[in-house]
Amino acid sequence: MRKLASIQRIVALEKIENADAIEKATVLGWQLVVKKNEFKTGELCVYCEIDSILPEKPEFEFLRERKFRIKTIKLRGQISQGICFPLSILPGGNYKEDDDVTEIIGVKKYDQQAVAEQKLFAEKAAIHKNRLDKFMKRYSWYRKIFIRLDRLPFPQFIKKTDEDRIQLFPDICEREKDTVFQVTEKIDGSSGTYFLIKNPKKWQFWKKYLFGVCSRNFQLLIPDNSCYWYIAKKLKIKSILMKLLNTYNSEYIILQGEIIGLKIQGNKYSLSNIDFYVFNFKTDSLFADNKALLNICTLHGLKCVPIIENEFKLLPSIPEMVEYSKGKSTIGDIMREGVVIRNYEKNISFKVVNPDFLLKYSE
Ligand code: ATP
Ligand code: MN
Repeated sequence: MRKLASIQRIVALEKIENADAIEKATVLGWQLVVKKNEFKTGELCVYCEIDSILPEKPEFEFLRERKFRIKTIKLRGQISQGICFPLSILPGGNYKEDDDVTEIIGVKKYDQQAVAEQKLFAEKAAIHKNRLDKFMKRYSWYRKIFIRLDRLPFPQFIKKTDEDRIQLFPDICEREKDTVFQVTEKIDGSSGTYFLIKNPKKWQFWKKYLFGVCSRNFQLLIPDNSCYWYIAKKLKIKSILMKLLNTYNSEYIILQGEIIGLKIQGNKYSLSNIDFYVFNFKTDSLFADNKALLNICTLHGLKCVPIIENEFKLLPSIPEMVEYSKGKSTIGDIMREGVVIRNYEKNISFKVVNPDFLLKYSE
């Protein structure tokens, strides 16, 4: 779970050009605007990351207009990501640097993917609304069976797609300055996971393999017209996975990627259809790096996320890395959402999100 609110140190305070009442603070690898003289350099504070939703309490009333949500903003030309409070907003206690206070404050996550999933399930529930169904839904046993059948929680043997933000590793540029990284474009859609696994239940001899289709947080058991199943059918993912399972002689194959296009996250790339860009390929013995991924995708008629560089050295500071994340998307005529930077041998993977993208698209 993401530490949305935590105890952090004010690493630096700097002047903002043409602004007397505010200054720029650095917390972790984040930069944000604070009231002048409210904090001192080196002092501890409560830092809430972007995507935090604060509870409706008097001390957060000033955020009501923004629906209590912390997002990327720009003040006097300065990008500001997150918000700092004095420790006094916390109930008494002994707090130290890095403590997670998300639950103590009651911070929730603004989660677009979960909202999209809820919408999908609500739409599906509406389709099945005939009179008998309405009648039967008055019985809880019926509701239980009905609701449980079409989806399961995300399978435990697969890692959910997720990338940490570079700002959480303030010293990474120094620590990994000699490491060679691979960089892909981060694209903004819905994450989809497909898997094929040899059925562990040997007695089910008629079902040698299990094929799975998952959204970000669920396995979708019944083929439907969601974008996840649409892609599965259109690209014949199951038969591709079957071939790959044989090629790699693996117990399972996992394919994860971003689905973008019509009706997804506002179709920012203005596509006229729905498309799938692979970013993860795993077998029981392989986690494909960019080059392997590109090969596998090309061989099977799939697209992989745009590869930006395969031999990249981190720039000296996080603000410079943030600058690097900006640029034009390869997929549509818009700016990049950001980049995902990986070193497979060292098992390092993180994202650098373009703040201009967040400013433009976070409604
Ligand atoms: P949060 O970090 O707040 O949980 P989130 O879950 O929406 O937000 P994102 O900011 O979208 O996460 O970043 C991680 C997601 O980015 C992955 O889950 C994946 O779906 C998507 N993604 C897009 N492009 C790539 C890429 N090139 N490599 C890896 N992941 C990518
Ligand atoms: Mn996302």
